[in-house]
Amino acid sequence: MKTINLLMPFCGGHYYLHGWAHKPFVLDGYTVATDGRIAVWIPGCHADTEGPQHLGSRIHHLMALHATVFEWIMWPEAGPAVKQPCPQCQGVNALHCDDCCGRGWVTELQPIATPSGILSGHYVRMVAKNLPNPTLGAIKTDGQKPVPFRFSGGGGVIMTQQQIMGYTREDTRERTTT
Ligand SMILES: [Zn+2]
Repeated sequence: MKTINLLMPFCGGHYYLHGWAHKPFVLDGYTVATDGRIAVWIPGCHADTEGPQHLGSRIHHLMALHATVFEWIMWPEAGPAVKQPCPQCQGVNALHCDDCCGRGWVTELQPIATPSGILSGHYVRMVAKNLPNPTLGAIKTDGQKPVPFRFSGGGGVIMTQQQIMGYTREDTRERTTT
């Protein structure tokens, strides 16, 4: 399989704001894919797109987190998907809801507690499904740092659920003050 295909699942969807998130890009000798919440990199130039230079320092900062890992541990297992009320329509007027196709509920993977923070079940499963032999980096953390991981041929980080919730709160605060 071509290296770039390994990275494709980690790119952002077409709805994503930044064009560079749509497909893997090359930055400082690495090929990188990210959707803003997970980043995966492989040494070498395997994509035709050059990444935005302003991302360089951010990516290097994320890579540097790997040096803080004190133990590489077994990849966590994603639990079963659980039925939950649709976050879009809350089950009210579900008939016209595109998110749940009128059912009023959606199935979601539960977040997973790891020694380095709480991770989205969605990303835990995505890594296990697409990357060979992943291991998770145990780091000293308050849950507010991206969690390093590595696999045969490359590395990456996943933002914790605590971080994502924190950012969501920031966003809400900004919206209400403007
Ligand atoms: Zn719905």
